[in-house]
Amino acid sequence: MRLPLFFTALLAAGQLSAQPAVEGRWTLVIHGGAGVIERDRLTAEEDSAIRAALAEALETGSAILREGGASLDAIEATIRVLEDDPNFNAGRGAVFTYDGTIEHDASIMDGATRSAGAATGTSNTRHPVTLARRVMENSPHVFLSGSGADAFSIEQGLEQVENSWFETDRRRGQLEEFLARQADDVSAYDIDLKYGTVGAVAVDIAGNVAAATSTGGMTGKRWGRIGDSPVIGAGTYADNRSCAVSATGSGEYFIRVGVAHEICAQIRFRFEQRLAEARASVPVDEEGVPEFYVHASEFGLQADEIQEIADSVIAEMAALGGSGGVIVTTPWGIGTYSFNTPGMYRGMASSEGGASVAIYGDED
Ligand code: ASP
Repeated sequence: MRLPLFFTALLAAGQLSAQPAVEGRWTLVIHGGAGVIERDRLTAEEDSAIRAALAEALETGSAILREGGASLDAIEATIRVLEDDPNFNAGRGAVFTYDGTIEHDASIMDGATRSAGAATGTSNTRHPVTLARRVMENSPHVFLSGSGADAFSIEQGLEQVENSWFETDRRRGQLEEFLARQADDVSAYDIDLKYGTVGAVAVDIAGNVAAATSTGGMTGKRWGRIGDSPVIGAGTYADNRSCAVSATGSGEYFIRVGVAHEICAQIRFRFEQRLAEARASVPVDEEGVPEFYVHASEFGLQADEIQEIADSVIAEMAALGGSGGVIVTTPWGIGTYSFNTPGMYRGMASSEGGASVAIYGDED
């Protein structure tokens, strides 16, 4: 069936290709890393400290969204809380490199404009997520690295701290463990440890999605190794036509699959296909004018379909040998998680249903 001119024009302009936002609805989903996170590996104190930290971060972002604030502001504020918390592998408490230093990676993306910013291998910026946002908003570039990113951060007037300010005894112990294991197995990256990267995705009441991720990477990383977290399309992606995604896990595999973009692309294609099929089924008169118009809001992808797409991309990554998880939110307010590890530090809040945090895989 030929689409009438009206539809063709709108589709060409992209105006009908996205499932519309639900008015007044906001959703925020966060993660604090995936990995071998099991009940017998956390003390009761660690368990409750993690839950309290996730709840605080969730409330920081929720307060912004509840007041009608932008998803970008909400995710940045949320991640800043987690970067300051030594329980997570981001900002203070990030893992050590092979050389005993701390190097941060972070990225952020705005689903409304598909603007993005990222920085890798930075050493002194207290809040790497804010640096990523400055790269997005105040530079002509998307991705800065190392000493150049550090210089840009200073130029932007962002708070600088000594590299040692990020150190914790726990992470130093993990480096020592890693170096000892590495003597036996050169591929012994810390996949048995908790990843601890932090991420946030949100949709605000205007229907704009955004995603951000911040990390120290992997314990013992060397040779300027860069994981998925600052790579747009791998660890972070946001597009108002589909979703926002932030990942955590074995970064090399997430890069190879392009996990974050892959999830968004599959959601977009599924929705566009469904819309086209519905429109094609509308009876037309002799002039080719449809008897009724099908609007995108009449049928959308449901939560179980978003879950299925996220799970299938995680399965594809796992089939290559990787492990980890993602958080996802759509412009129409669905929020979900998917992970193939025993646990993932995570939390979700929305205008619809309060807030919840979880750690282990068997929690709702
Ligand atoms: N994905 C991160 C990386 O590979 C690690 C993590 O999620 O903790 O650098």
